[in-house]
Amino acid sequence: MIPPTMSAFEATSRYFNEAADLLDLTDNMRKLLLTPKREVQVQIPVEMDNGELSTLIGYRVQHDNACGPMKGGLRFHPEVDLDEVRSLAALMTWKTAVVNLPYGGAKGGIAIDPRTISARELERVTRKFVDQIHDVIGPDTDIPAPDMGSNAMVMAWIMNQYGKYHGFNPAVVTGKPVEHYGMPGREEATGRGVGIFTVKLLSRLGRSPSETKVAIQGFGNVGSHAAKFLQEADCQVVAISDVSGGYYREQGIDISDACRHLREHNGSLAGYRQADAITNEELLELKVDVLIPAALGGVFTAENARRIQAPVIIEAANEPTRPEADAIFNQRGLTVLPDVLANAGGVTASYFEWVQNRQHYQWGINRVRQELDHVLSQAFQTVWETATERQVSLRIAAFMVGIGRVGRATILGGIA
Ligand code: NAD
Repeated sequence: MIPPTMSAFEATSRYFNEAADLLDLTDNMRKLLLTPKREVQVQIPVEMDNGELSTLIGYRVQHDNACGPMKGGLRFHPEVDLDEVRSLAALMTWKTAVVNLPYGGAKGGIAIDPRTISARELERVTRKFVDQIHDVIGPDTDIPAPDMGSNAMVMAWIMNQYGKYHGFNPAVVTGKPVEHYGMPGREEATGRGVGIFTVKLLSRLGRSPSETKVAIQGFGNVGSHAAKFLQEADCQVVAISDVSGGYYREQGIDISDACRHLREHNGSLAGYRQADAITNEELLELKVDVLIPAALGGVFTAENARRIQAPVIIEAANEPTRPEADAIFNQRGLTVLPDVLANAGGVTASYFEWVQNRQHYQWGINRVRQELDHVLSQAFQTVWETATERQVSLRIAAFMVGIGRVGRATILGGIA
């Protein structure tokens, strides 16, 4: 039994160790691959609009760079702490390796609720943070991107502030505004990738999209784009939700209509009348064919894992399944497409943006979508084949693929 007090990093390390056992990795190699290369914690003193001084804490954890410069988001959330950032940084190492990108893993965060401060304050916080960490990031070292609470505007500020120290260099961050060295197709890429993987998995499981009912928790960037893709692929999206609650319609929700509601109501589904109101807990326990958590971490626990009725779970959010719930899902024979693969469309598109920034050349949206489909399809096939050959879950197979690649690159690069 896993203690409920297990930290996020311990939880990620648990999957790592399970995969490492199957790869016969030595203890010394495990220690090397698990230990982050560098952890930075900085003080961010900022003057707020009312003249008061606020002192924030910012983190950047650089986990591994055996396969290339480190890559990972920057999260603005009041509950950000070093343990969470460390765990997400490690997850990025395995994620970039599973999709075979020439990157390592990193993650950053600032403990702040961006909804409670003005845009000017957010800009000052971001620039001050860059002042503290500009020496350890860079297009060949560590490339931040948006994550929960941060966005394209924040990335433009990072690029600008970094440029004051190191000169013009748009490849230092990805997820920038399309009009400012960003890339069309980056914003939709994570959700689109979730949709691509879902359709591929359904095909392997012998299910037809037209006979598939889907429920999605979270209707933000990832959830809404995944819903759109799946509806276009002929699936029936019967339930969606956000912080305001869940919305259910047995015959399927019209996703364009829900997106229109979102645009007209400041990004909220509150008051959406074209479906019945349900709670977020009820959404998770619906009798659907596919369940997609696309909001928070830790939604599946030992407490609710036995009540989940969907036979297929696609982890669009990062770390939505606690290890104890994962064990129950495995026992019950549910198919879980793990976060480390399922939401890798975002970092893959970020890689395309970085490549274009370095070449000063811009692809069109069709090329972005085509390349995304190509990279994700190869990753899916490798993970599926590993799971089938080694008779392990898709999660352990994904970790085996990722760890195997990083381990080989580490040995080939030499340690001395
Ligand atoms: P977002 O902020 O755009 O959307 C989050 C959605 O979740 C919103 O609809 C919000 O209302 C909803 N939500 C928040 N709290 C909730 C709750 N308690 N119950 C139900 N819904 C709730 O965020 P996003 O970019 O869509 O990211 C969603 C998840 O996907 C996160 O776990 C993130 O780490 C992960 N992810 C995102 C990307 C990306 O490119 N955006 C890439 C990889 C992973």
